[in-house]
Amino acid sequence: MTIKTKLLKLLILGAPASGKGTISSRIVKKYNVSHVSSGDKLRDHIEKQTDLGKEVKKYLNEGKLVPDDVMIKFMITELNKVNNKSWLLDGFPRTVAQADALWKVQPVDVVLNLVVPFEVIIDRVKNRWVHLPSGRVYNIGFNTPKVEGKDDVTGEDLVQRPDDKPEAVRKRLEIYESATRPVIDYYRNKNILKEFEGRTSDEIWPKVTAYLDPILIK
Ligand code: AMP
Repeated sequence: MTIKTKLLKLLILGAPASGKGTISSRIVKKYNVSHVSSGDKLRDHIEKQTDLGKEVKKYLNEGKLVPDDVMIKFMITELNKVNNKSWLLDGFPRTVAQADALWKVQPVDVVLNLVVPFEVIIDRVKNRWVHLPSGRVYNIGFNTPKVEGKDDVTGEDLVQRPDDKPEAVRKRLEIYESATRPVIDYYRNKNILKEFEGRTSDEIWPKVTAYLDPILIK
């Protein structure tokens, strides 16, 4: 299998806990593209207590969106660091202002939208644990870690994200509806939106590969 030489700019959209993280890591692994996840990068800054980390911490803990000006500057800088490789953008843009700013400097080629029922999302979040340094996500009862509370690869502690608390999740889903819905329409109007429906990532994944194989593999 050879990866096509044309560099592709992919974007993945989906509500919080729609399986975006899981599908993204599978795409990154299968097609060897760079994963640029705004949430992972922000959590990394918080962990390292950088100036940006200190500035954005309260937004993440409360499940609120980081202001557009901060996000736009940060993410465009991050994208410019990716050299000569296709990328998959995850978590950005979340508002039309962000989408517009991105379009001006890095117009994306393909937008994948994951469509997962609301009740499935609520249930999933309750059981979600993450390994912060790597961003690996576990779901109790579905992909349970081998040792309770520990990352399979490093054996380090897993944590529940503060924004996975029920109140923060409700807030994030509300924000998603009001701020991010228009982003979906933005890309639909540009005719580059492709939607994938399902209740689990395993149900969605074959649909994603059926779509991406012809455009990413020779
Ligand atoms: P995620 O891991 O993508 O769900 O992002 C976690 C949190 O990071 C969000 O709830 C926001 O507080 C913040 N965040 C990530 N990406 C963005 C963005 N594009 N715009 C504003 N805030 C963001």
